[in-house]
Amino acid sequence: MNCIVFKLSDNLKNKFIKFYEPFKCEKNPPYSVFQAKNYDVTITLYESGKVMFQGIGADIEASIWIDAERRLNGKTITTDQKKEKKEVEKEENFFLYSSTIGSDETGCGDAFGPVVVAATYVSKENIEFLKSLGVKDSKQINDDKIKQIAPEIIKNIPYVCFILNNKTYNENYQNINMVKLKCILHNKVLCSLIEKYQPVYTHCVVDQFVNEKKYYEYLADVPKKVTNISFYTKGESKCMAVAAASIIARYTFLSQMQKLENEYGYLLPKGAGSVVDEQIKKIIQEKGKDYLTNFAKLNFKNFTK
Ligand code: MG
Repeated sequence: MNCIVFKLSDNLKNKFIKFYEPFKCEKNPPYSVFQAKNYDVTITLYESGKVMFQGIGADIEASIWIDAERRLNGKTITTDQKKEKKEVEKEENFFLYSSTIGSDETGCGDAFGPVVVAATYVSKENIEFLKSLGVKDSKQINDDKIKQIAPEIIKNIPYVCFILNNKTYNENYQNINMVKLKCILHNKVLCSLIEKYQPVYTHCVVDQFVNEKKYYEYLADVPKKVTNISFYTKGESKCMAVAAASIIARYTFLSQMQKLENEYGYLLPKGAGSVVDEQIKKIIQEKGKDYLTNFAKLNFKNFTK
């Protein structure tokens, strides 16, 4: 059967839904937000933003939106016509019904505080539990909600979390690039997770920060490696294990920051912007540069300024 699939831009989604409103089906298939049937074509919009046109009229129907993408967004859409419906549905939702392991990190863009990386094992039986906590796209969850749900995740989901503290970072990692450091840390937590829990999983997903080839290049001299990783951008919106890992990492980072603030007596703003610059100036004036070693990443531009 003729089947066309491509990703629809966000600014076209509402138009798309409105356009097909009169032909809307009563029920949506899993992981879709909208389905409509118009004579000889079935149109489905998935949560991932992909649209699928199926049936004899698929070409003509899809061309309306391919044209709109070109006119409004300057995008040239290449469609993948070979994919069967089943294949597409599987691709859209296998992370949401399969057992997966996944990892994510935080703190790499923050001049203050540690780098935290976490990995989790989410068996398919635990997916509903995480959904009920509101775990979906962890990037859309604010810090208050993270503080509320992370302890529940930690209690119930197998995980490994590693904190690279500032002292160790400043002594050992100032001269390697952040991407390589991330590769090493992701690999480290995934290895420990597998060793500790021996999870049974179908996919290992890493929230993509580097391409696959480079990832393994950076790990060339690391003896133990997890291979067969699926790298996905916005991994936290596609894979529960990545979403859960992302929340645990963020939660740990936030508590570490709180601890450092209490211990060293300064507010430690997140990120690496001008507010951070101001705070650094103040701390150096009052306590000297050495004081920063235990709670800041000294190779950040904020310090060399
Ligand atoms: Mg990430």
